[in-house]
Amino acid sequence: MNKINILDLSKEELTQIIKPSFRAKQIYQWIYQKYVNSFDEMKNIPKELKEELNQNFFLDPLSIIKIEQSLDGSKKYLFALKDGQTVESVLLPMKQEKVDEEGKLVHHTKYTICISSQVGCKIGCAFCLTGKDGFKRNLSAGEITAQILMIKRDNQIAENRRVNIVYMGMGEPLDNLDNVSKSVRIFSDIDGLCISTRRQTISTSGLSSQIEKLGKMDLGVLLAISLHAVDDELRQKLMPINKAYNIESIINAVKAFPIDARKRVMFEYLVMKGVNDDQKSAKKLVKLLHGIKSKVNLIYFNPHHGSEFARPSEKDVVAFQQYLVDHGVLCTIRQSKGLDISAACGQLKDKEQNNVNA
Ligand code: SAH
Ligand code: SF4
Repeated sequence: MNKINILDLSKEELTQIIKPSFRAKQIYQWIYQKYVNSFDEMKNIPKELKEELNQNFFLDPLSIIKIEQSLDGSKKYLFALKDGQTVESVLLPMKQEKVDEEGKLVHHTKYTICISSQVGCKIGCAFCLTGKDGFKRNLSAGEITAQILMIKRDNQIAENRRVNIVYMGMGEPLDNLDNVSKSVRIFSDIDGLCISTRRQTISTSGLSSQIEKLGKMDLGVLLAISLHAVDDELRQKLMPINKAYNIESIINAVKAFPIDARKRVMFEYLVMKGVNDDQKSAKKLVKLLHGIKSKVNLIYFNPHHGSEFARPSEKDVVAFQQYLVDHGVLCTIRQSKGLDISAACGQLKDKEQNNVNA
């Protein structure tokens, strides 16, 4: 019999299988809060149950192939799946200074982990390496959750430390909605990683009908739209998905999406030199976002070998931001975390493959 990845199961599903049900809760805590590597380490679980677990399940769907550490502290992981496919995730620690109750300045690190949802991607955006190799397969819910678990374990991030999750790695999360939404729920389980859905951001290239479906699930997740262009003609060239779902359909889907009153929808805008970095585009973007509680995140295009696009100048990106801010649109520039490693997703994998092929 083929063993089942225990990380694929929600606590409710595990409770159906493991009796008495409080054992399922304990097992969940061992895996997600005490980071055990094997069932044998689960101290308060009876021997017979451990044997049963060993016979029917495994809990290591991923193994680390390579880690690249950047000077700014971000760390990129290349993982192998059981079938030999590979995916990437990135840990982005952000040092913050806070004044504590006694008025002392304390340093505090906030963690964001960027995870993948598919091996490859069907969408095939012109600027993205992940799409270049085509689509291999969806990740299962457990292969998605394992990325967070492995990174928390590898960095000894305490179980109760808050972590933000962004589905901005390889793949299109809304093209794998069943497994992605299941992973969202598993992440938020109080006996598991206990990461609130409000700390989880799903980024999409704009599959409008799937945005509507996700909205109806009312999970409480945050939404990020990879917009990158403000008119359909250009967007279609950059992102072929725009033929099926144009900008208007995305904006309508966003307007219908349930958003926490204190939160905003994030619009990602990958800035490419001479393509979409002009003031006319900034002006159109302001118009487009009118009436939406939004936040724009400008991302410098990160060149990779063979790419037809170039990194924009700082002057143009700052002027773009200034235009938005001057017209009442919240806008940040993504700090190019890990530029000295292979920053954008797909690039570490690409490097590995080229090394292997070299
Ligand atoms: N498929 C989803 C989620 C992940 S895509 C989406 O498109 O939203 C990964 C992110 O990396 C996207 O925001 C994309 O714009 C960005 N990206 C892709 N190629 C990049 C590059 N060369 N430089 C910088 N960011 C890039
Ligand atoms: Fe897929 Fe996102 Fe890359 Fe486009 S940018 S090819 S949707 S992973």
